[in-house]
Amino acid sequence: MLGLIQDRPLLLSSLIEHAALYHGDREVVSRTVEGPIHRTNWREINARAKRLANALVALGVKPGDRVATMAWNGYRHVELYYAVSGMGAVLHTINPRLFPEQIEYIANHAEDTLLFFDATFAPLVEKLAPRFKTIRNIVALTDKAHLPAINVSGLLCYEEMLAAQPDRFEWPQFDERTASSLCYTSGTTGNPKGVLYTHRSTVLHSFSGCSADGLGISSGESILLIVPLFHVNGWGVAYSAAMSGAKLVLPGPALDGRSVYELLAKEACTLTLGVPTVWLMLLDYIEQNRASLNLSDIKLKRVIIGGSAAPRAMIEKFRDLFGAFVVHAWGMTEMSPIGTVGHLLPKHAGLSTEKITAVQVKQGRAIYGVEMKIVGEDGKELQRDGKAFGDLLVRGPWVTRGYFKNDDAVIDEQGWFRTGDVATLDPDGYMQITDRSKDVIKSGGEWISSIDLENAAVAHPAVQEAAVIGIAHNKWGERPLLVVIKKSGATVTREELLAFLGDKVAKWWLPDDVVFVDTLPHTATGKLQKTTLRDQFRTYRLPTDSAA
Ligand code: AMP
Repeated sequence: MLGLIQDRPLLLSSLIEHAALYHGDREVVSRTVEGPIHRTNWREINARAKRLANALVALGVKPGDRVATMAWNGYRHVELYYAVSGMGAVLHTINPRLFPEQIEYIANHAEDTLLFFDATFAPLVEKLAPRFKTIRNIVALTDKAHLPAINVSGLLCYEEMLAAQPDRFEWPQFDERTASSLCYTSGTTGNPKGVLYTHRSTVLHSFSGCSADGLGISSGESILLIVPLFHVNGWGVAYSAAMSGAKLVLPGPALDGRSVYELLAKEACTLTLGVPTVWLMLLDYIEQNRASLNLSDIKLKRVIIGGSAAPRAMIEKFRDLFGAFVVHAWGMTEMSPIGTVGHLLPKHAGLSTEKITAVQVKQGRAIYGVEMKIVGEDGKELQRDGKAFGDLLVRGPWVTRGYFKNDDAVIDEQGWFRTGDVATLDPDGYMQITDRSKDVIKSGGEWISSIDLENAAVAHPAVQEAAVIGIAHNKWGERPLLVVIKKSGATVTREELLAFLGDKVAKWWLPDDVVFVDTLPHTATGKLQKTTLRDQFRTYRLPTDSAA
């Protein structure tokens, strides 16, 4: 027997309508590409999204068409989020940090019809425009006065387009399983693959963003969203912020320490979200300018860190500097992205700071809606004892079941998706990533976690960034090599670093060598690019290798 509750479809337009009606005055603050701070609110965002929806219709955009963006975090990008999906088209957020060839590939693969871009990317757009096969119009996200002087046919001005349209638009009702947005994962090998979200998956994911044990987003928060809107829907925060009526602060292109600090202070941000690389820049800025800063200007309560492992030293710094609690989260493009969030349990009350930090270092517990398990090489489920580590599998209503225009099977018969991460699960449900399955170091038949070694190394005061890779070894198969960038002006030797790690990891995990470098390769989403690093060290011989 079916129940008798209404089947109202879960559509993204309902989020912005709710925000406009019940939190209309709540601010959306952006640092613009042009420089000045711009202030608007949810009511205005909705009204302008409606103008934009009218403009999209006038430009011939039909339901299901892909509309691309190449833009920073700003109010116009949020308007695109709601207008494009709201009218039934699909928002394709292109990561502008990808190689130009990859951008060309994904725009053509997605068969984008329009492209909206921030002026920063004008030279890139001009270069790529002749290579886009399906894009009819290219729209500069600015006003007439700032229109970039580029030679692109069909170039339009965003503000002119909006001014020509009414702010009345009836958001259509349709099947909640309709595609809403598209993000390509920038895998380290092969062509990027498109994850196609639905209205339903995104609204459900937004609810979890607003739950206390999820991201805890509520109307009381002032959120600095450092995670780019072009990286997995900005972790869904632009949706959860509208659902809850939170204040949203958007940093534009300025992610340097000073700019981020300034926004945190001026906009009284209580919550911020980003990958570790950005926090390194912020913490470095604070360290350099400590004497001239009044840290009590910062009202941060929580910092959500994900995308890569949050090092212990970073968790401690946020606590010591601002009294802010680092909530470690894990997820991936294929998961919309949130899978686990690192909140404490009642049993942790009263524990020492050290023990609390040890909980925070783990990637957190599955939020409701995400099922997960770890399996061994034989595919059998492993114990949740915090020690056994194996391939992490997930399933749930915001986990992908395939890639766009790609027939590869990505889930098994029971719906499990292989994340490509290797992890432990402890008896309390806390998951800890020990590696990407491709990066784990296999030494003498046992696995060594490169992430654990990296985290231990960055705790050294002279270390700016560290990467650990496996190097072929005659006796052990592979042994770890630690590659380090020193902080500017700092000195540390190979022997000092190895001695520092000595009491932090198992003896047989200790790297066989340390190499100091000036830069490390990163992907377009700021993760260490281990494949490139391994290529760089392909002919490297460890001093412990008898074949050397
Ligand atoms: P992406 O799809 O670009 O968001 O990348 C997802 C991958 O980033 C995951 O499969 C993990 O390997 C990695 N990742 C995300 N969050 C974390 C985290 N908190 N700690 C370690 N790795 C993470």
